Amino acid sequence: MSVTLKSSKEDLAKLQEDAVKEFASANDAKSVNDLRVKYLGDKSVIVNMRRNMKEIPNEDKPEFGKLINEVLAVINDAHQKSQNEVESRELAFKLSKEKIDPSLPGIEHELGHIHPLTQVTNEIVSIFERMGFALVDGPEIESSYYNFTALNTPEDHPARDEQDTFYTKLGDDVLLRSHTSSMQIRAMEKLKPPFRIIGHGRVYRNEEVNARKMPFFHQLEVMMIDENINFGHMKWVLQEFLTAFFGKNIKTRFRPDFFPFTEPSAELDAECVFCSGKGCGTCGHRGWLELFGCGMVDPNVLEMAGIDSTRYSGFAAGMGLDRFTMLKYKINDIRYMFNGDRRFIEQF
Ligand SMILES: [Zn+2]
Repeated sequence: MSVTLKSSKEDLAKLQEDAVKEFASANDAKSVNDLRVKYLGDKSVIVNMRRNMKEIPNEDKPEFGKLINEVLAVINDAHQKSQNEVESRELAFKLSKEKIDPSLPGIEHELGHIHPLTQVTNEIVSIFERMGFALVDGPEIESSYYNFTALNTPEDHPARDEQDTFYTKLGDDVLLRSHTSSMQIRAMEKLKPPFRIIGHGRVYRNEEVNARKMPFFHQLEVMMIDENINFGHMKWVLQEFLTAFFGKNIKTRFRPDFFPFTEPSAELDAECVFCSGKGCGTCGHRGWLELFGCGMVDPNVLEMAGIDSTRYSGFAAGMGLDRFTMLKYKINDIRYMFNGDRRFIEQF
């Protein structure tokens, strides 16, 4: 059978009309797909006609090709339109089956919150970092060597009783650290002077729980080792820190004290930031707040960590982060900070 332009024109017009009509009446995805195969698939009439184009006289070929493309475009449009309609109809049907009660309250996603102790710790760390101190870390479960022996506290030393801590079932040698000074020993063994370090973390003491004490607390310690370091350097660093933290110049004083790992040792008091030294509930009506235990690192401690004590000296100071947090936010009971009550935590 010969194919002519004239016969093809008639065939294509009929094909287009049928296709558009059938696509318009398709009402599910399967029918649309069947029609796509029928009118646009590899074995469809129009694709076959295009394949047989060589039978068309040469002079008619351009018009024939144009016509085929026009009809294909119309059928493609009809297919696309039909497919869109079927899809949106199916989606609407699916949604109508789902039971949504728009009057129900939504699910509230609550954002987390940084604990006040962590906020204060971060602030303190950044103040010391600005003064050139580097942050070091260490384990909470410590050996008695790092917790006591290397800190000039031999086994028969009375300070081991004062710092009655929690021992593990592994024996007297493995305990929960009673201060962060053990981190400093670990750092001193690795670092070569001069250095300035801070370390902080949770420490443990065998204490009764009350408004001021828990069996654990959080400490931050500062250490600076270099040639010719003296008490004056320590005073300056701590004074600078307090000014930065409390946002004002405050009066400080040193009182002699004893720690096995520093000599001389002192407590640093600051004039009460709440009553300016007049006396109030926070400072126990003394007008002063005890803020740091500090002193010059004992030469024995330096030597045990492998640092030449005839050449280097340094200071160390420790502070209670819980205490600073309570002072900053005027929290009068330490237990509030750790009982996990969000009504408390969310205030900060
Ligand atoms: Zn006061």
